[in-house]
Parts: sequence; structure tokens; C-alpha cells
Amino acid sequence: EGGGAMAAAEGPAPGELALLGPAPGAPSCPHGPALLFVKTSQGKEEGRRFYACSACRDRKDCNFFQWEDEKVSETRLAAREEYNRNHQPSFTHRQNVDRYKNFVLLPLSKRRFCQECQQLLLPAEWETHSDHQFLCDITTAQLKSPSQLLYPLENKKTNAQYLFADRSCQFLLNLLIDLGFRRVLSVGTPRLHEMIQSKASQEEEFSVRSLLLDIDFRYSQFYTEDEFCHYNMFNHHFFGGEAARETCRKFLFEENGERVIMVTDPPFGGLVEALASSFKKLMAMWRETKKEGHDNKEMPMFWIFPYFFESRILDFFPSFNMMDYQVDYDNHALYKHGKTGRRQSPVRIFTNLTPSMIVLPEEEGYRFCTVCQRYVSSGNQHCEICNSCTSKDGRRWKHCVLCKKCVKPSWFHCNNCNCCTLQKHSCEKTDVGCFVCGKAGHKRSACPSLSCS
Ligand code: SAH
Ligand code: ZN
Ligand code: ZN
Ligand code: ZN
Ligand code: ZN
Repeated sequence: EGGGAMAAAEGPAPGELALLGPAPGAPSCPHGPALLFVKTSQGKEEGRRFYACSACRDRKDCNFFQWEDEKVSETRLAAREEYNRNHQPSFTHRQNVDRYKNFVLLPLSKRRFCQECQQLLLPAEWETHSDHQFLCDITTAQLKSPSQLLYPLENKKTNAQYLFADRSCQFLLNLLIDLGFRRVLSVGTPRLHEMIQSKASQEEEFSVRSLLLDIDFRYSQFYTEDEFCHYNMFNHHFFGGEAARETCRKFLFEENGERVIMVTDPPFGGLVEALASSFKKLMAMWRETKKEGHDNKEMPMFWIFPYFFESRILDFFPSFNMMDYQVDYDNHALYKHGKTGRRQSPVRIFTNLTPSMIVLPEEEGYRFCTVCQRYVSSGNQHCEICNSCTSKDGRRWKHCVLCKKCVKPSWFHCNNCNCCTLQKHSCEKTDVGCFVCGKAGHKRSACPSLSCS
């Protein structure tokens, strides 16, 4: 970006960054309004505040940078606007919808998908993609599961796509149907959206509808404007402007008593406060669709996120509870193989629905704790002292009388640190809390929550 791009090189060196949140009047990059950050050291703000891209943590993906107090000339502003315009996708959503209509009219032999450009090709375009790898004979079934056709985005730090394993996706869908929901706002859950869409087109009596909000614009090739909005969940930005916002608003309006639930599975790069701020705006949108108001009720929500973010999520949404259900993925880096050979996923469902209503499958080892009034993992024992089923990772935890709480089975009480931790640790203390778990004594890179031991 004109001068701004060059300025990026002069920005603060990467370290612990604190998000100061979406600021009114923030400048925009191609991903919508930038977020305000500050570098911190020992928990204190250090140096000038600056704006950076909300969506890309990696400078390689978007190098937008501007000091908060920087004076930006008219010329540079104009150049920036032009840069932002030029960095939008080559086809608009409308164009992609028209292209799709033409594509499905083609005989199988003429249906090609360019793997390099991640794009459905019309015969007139074959020429320009002639030295690209492509797939042929794209079937209707393939068009109905774009998440299988598209490469999962993997290269980017915060934009990695981890797709639900079929079992977990089925479970989520059945759960929300059993709970009586008929509309799903799918925020960053393309595979759930796809499962709903494809059932709706195949089964007459299936009456669930879904709207996908995602930053991955490739999905606009497969869904109409009523089914997909290009959206950035870190700054609540609708790339399609007011029309897209209105689509979302309409979807949230619970016509004919069709209840809505929002399901989201964000990338966990650490911007919990940015996500929470956007989700609160989506909740407000829902609340405003009802003239009589929702009696201060919250829009029902499933926020799918690793268990070690529990305290961060509860900071922003005190009404939420973490469920024991382990969400499984097809391609997840954080997988560990448990004793049973089953993959142990650290990812859970956080919800503002009453825990006792979230029925977890007994055939997968979950049981109902009558004291806690919720389903728990089979290994999660009810602790009489805590008076709760305390395990977070599914293994049996042990109670420490000194810490007055249950801890991981592999932890020991360290009298130096005055808390339980891994036996191998350095007793040095830092004042600032860990970015991941909020506890003192270690930095994010050494967070015991991140290791399954
Ligand atoms: N498990 C889900 C996918 C989760 S991966 C499923 O199977 O459906 C995270 C999703 O969030 C991806 O679809 C990704 O494109 C999307 N995403 C990443 N950054 C985003 C952002 N800033 N705004 C909106 N969506 C984003
Ligand atoms: Zn191509
Ligand atoms: Zn219990
Ligand atoms: Zn202890
Ligand atoms: Zn930690």
C-alpha cells in the first residue's frame, strides 16, 4: 500500500502485543477496519499504539500498518483506497452466482475446476488456465461439498482451516435440531453449512436453513447471496456492505417461530477480545430484529474453541459454559492420540444454553452427572471437595488440597511457585499473566495448557 506498506517495515518488532480493540474511525485495509494494538512489556503498554490488519497476523498476508497518531496525507489516503479496491476478489459475488448458473448447465465433460486458482472454469476460460492443474468432470455432488473440493487454507497463521470430522459435524447438526433450532448462523463453519445445505436439497422434510459468514471468498462460487456473506469475524466487517448486513439481519429475524442459533469455530490465534466484540454485535443484531425485544435474552450460541481458552471466553461471556464434548477434525495439528487410540481433541463447545440440555452421546463414553446437571466425559470424575466434575481434558484429574482445586494428573504441587505445575519447570515468576490461560508464572510459549501432559 503506497507509503503505508513501506512503513510496515518500521513497525515494532513482534513481541507480546495487546489488542486495544476495534476503534471508532480506524483506517481500513482490504480486510476492513484495522484493529488498534500496542506492544506490551511486563504487562505495561510500551511505545506508540498502532493499527494493523484484523484478519492477518502474518505481515506477508497483509502488511497494513499505521501509527495511531500518524498524520496521513490526502494523497496517501486516496492511494490506500485505490489499493483496497484493487485488492478485492476478481469476481464479485453476483458474478460468481451467475457463473455457477452457467457452470451447472454444462455437460460433465466440460466442468473443470482450476486447482491453482481455486476456481470453477467456464470453457471460454480454459485457455488462460491451460498450464494450471485442474480437476475434470465436476459432479453435482462435488459442487454440493465445496469444502472437499477446495484446498483447506493452511499456509496462513490465523487463517488455517480445520474441517469438522463427519461424526462431529453430524453430532452438532443433530444436537441443534433436537434443541429445536431451524436456522443456523454459521460463522466460520463451512462444513456445517454445507451439511445443512445438502440435506435441505435432498430431503423433503428437512427444514433447517443456514447462512454462512466466512472470510474465505472462494465459497461465493457455490452459494447465493442469501446463503453466504463474505465476512470478517475479527472486526464484524461485511465485505458486501449494507446489502449483506441486511441479509444477515433478515436471517436472524425469527419468522414463524423459527429459532436461530449461531455456531462459530474461529481460528484461535489469540484475538479472543476481537471475536467477542464481533459476536456481541451479531447478538445485538439478533436482539434488534425483535420489536418486543427478547426479554434481555441472548442469542443462543455455540462457540467452538480449545478448552484452555475457557477463562478468556468466560471473561467476555459470563453466561457461557464449557461442554465436555471433544470436537474432532479431519486435519487438525493439535491432535494427540489417547490411550484408546482415539484422537484426543482439545476443542470444546462453549454455549449459553442450559448445560443439562446438551445431550452428549453415551456410545462415545459421555455420561450424565446428576449433581453437575450436565453430560461429562467418562473419565471426568465428580470431585466431592470441589463438588463438580473438574476435568477439562477428559482424563481423571486429582484434587490438590494446597491449591484447593483439581489439577491435571501429571502435575505436582511446587512449594516454590505455590501452585501445581509440571514437575519439570523453572520456578521463575513473571508478573504478567499468560496470554493463553491468564495464569502468572509463564509466557504463552510455555503454557502447560498447550501441552496435553
Ligand atoms: N470446523 C469448521 C471450520 C473451522 S476453520 C468447519 O468444518 O466448518 C475456521 C474457519 O474460519 C474457516 O472457514 C476460515 O475461512 C474462517 N475464518 C478465518 N478467519 C476468518 C475471519 N477473519 N473472518 C471470518 N472467517 C474467518
Ligand atoms: Zn488457473
Ligand atoms: Zn459432577
Ligand atoms: Zn497444588
Ligand atoms: Zn498458560
